[in-house]
Amino acid sequence: QKRCIVVGAGIGGLAASIRMAARNYEVSVLEKNKLPGGKMHQIERNGFRFDTGPSLFTLPHLVTELLNLGPEPSEPTFRYEKLKNVCRYFYDDGTMINVPGNPEDFAREAEIKTGEPAANIINYLNTARERYRSSADLFIFNPLKNLISSARHKKPEELKPLLKVKPLRSMHKENEIAFQSSQIIQLFDRYATYNGSSPFKASSMLNMISHLEHDEGAYFPEKGMYNIVESLYHKALSLGVKFQFETAVTHLVSEKDSITKVIAGNKELEADLVISDVDVNTLYRGPARKLKMPRSVKKPDLSSSALIFYWGMNRTFPQLDVHNILFSTDYRGEFRAIFNNHQLFNDPTVYIFVSSKIVEADAPKGKENWFVMINVPPGTEKTDQEWIKQARENILKKIHRTLKINPREDILFEEIATPKTIETNTGSWKGALYGNNSNSIWSAFLRHQNKSRKYHNLFFTGGSVHPGGGIPLCLASAAIVEKEINQQ
Ligand code: FAD
Repeated sequence: QKRCIVVGAGIGGLAASIRMAARNYEVSVLEKNKLPGGKMHQIERNGFRFDTGPSLFTLPHLVTELLNLGPEPSEPTFRYEKLKNVCRYFYDDGTMINVPGNPEDFAREAEIKTGEPAANIINYLNTARERYRSSADLFIFNPLKNLISSARHKKPEELKPLLKVKPLRSMHKENEIAFQSSQIIQLFDRYATYNGSSPFKASSMLNMISHLEHDEGAYFPEKGMYNIVESLYHKALSLGVKFQFETAVTHLVSEKDSITKVIAGNKELEADLVISDVDVNTLYRGPARKLKMPRSVKKPDLSSSALIFYWGMNRTFPQLDVHNILFSTDYRGEFRAIFNNHQLFNDPTVYIFVSSKIVEADAPKGKENWFVMINVPPGTEKTDQEWIKQARENILKKIHRTLKINPREDILFEEIATPKTIETNTGSWKGALYGNNSNSIWSAFLRHQNKSRKYHNLFFTGGSVHPGGGIPLCLASAAIVEKEINQQ
């Protein structure tokens, strides 16, 4: 039996371990933390439970596909539901757009609230759908090196939606052309943040991201996001995967064109295959420092990071739903602050995620668990107490201005995540949430690939490599790794 070592038990590492174990490899996962999950983690305190990282969940079948691999499908402990409402968007002028989970109802709501003709929304989402369908297997579910050969196998009409894209146009520019209402433009611009990028820089090609939530649907696991990790972890165990926690890999040892050993402190493990789930920007500065560092890693153009307050709230807030966005009045200024000036912005867009609205057990009766997040520049230098205090004030003022409430007195306790703690807890370089950003049209092509060019038995999964960050893409990266190994 061939031995496969997976470094890191983030979502990509878990998915890769399941895939390789289902192919009968002897799989060991080495994880520096005490528990699996990486960025997808949880905090339990005083009767509250918080998912600490991802909260928006699309394409759930990518998780169930993994749970059904191997000789016996898992017990159906992983259950999820489609959200009735995708998100509530709040603007400083008092407008609130409640986005229902189907395009027609959303278009109607948008027309009532902003005057944007419903037909514009429907046309836009139709274009996003066509774009996604014609590009998903080219750009997401296959290695990028197969792009040309895969495109050759497509019928011309299948490629038509892609040929219509103007890749040099930014997401924002395309949205400005598509819509009349500045509030709807801002709503669709926000999808750039789903991979930590700026809508004023990222290619209009990425406007297809909105299709996933509005058309395919936004979902939520019945027991919260961390249940995705728990379910995958138990599936991996059931397939015989061995986990070694509190085991930080310190060296990948190479010989000619292969990785022969993985060293973790005083442990030395021999491997036929190595799959790394570690952020590549951290990997090449740590365990793989003796390997040649690719250019995109040498000078990384990082995605945004986050500052998050986990607040146990003493009461419930009927004006909020599960996912809520309080928009900045100056979106351009906010992205300039994040990506050009590397500063906090005094009127930030605030994301409030309240899982207890749907998972009752996540907060004591009559209370709520608030996950309050703003996007901030990656980097761990400035995140001192003064910086956190200033951001907290900006957030509280924003909530007061937009929702006309003052939650200050209702906060029973708080925990905080900064770029620095995200880096320490998950190994993500400078706390960037999604590896490198997608602010240039070349980003997809410059992203680290899933198979090493030099070492025939070294592979890469997770949010910092092709096809990119976010749960669905991390799961896709593990599927590509499996394909690459299978083709050897
Ligand atoms: P990671 O989660 O990056 O895990 C890597 C693992 O490797 C960690 O467990 C780490 O401890 C381990 N490791 C590192 N170095 C070593 C070493 N030397 N030896 C052993 N182990 C090591 N995505 C969405 O889809 N929707 C969202 O709403 C969303 N929101 C987010 C909000 C936040 C605050 C954050 C942080 C992320 C968010 N994301 C979201 C992104 C998503 O969480 C990530 O893309 C995904 O979880 C990354 O998984 P990964 O496989 O890259 O592994």
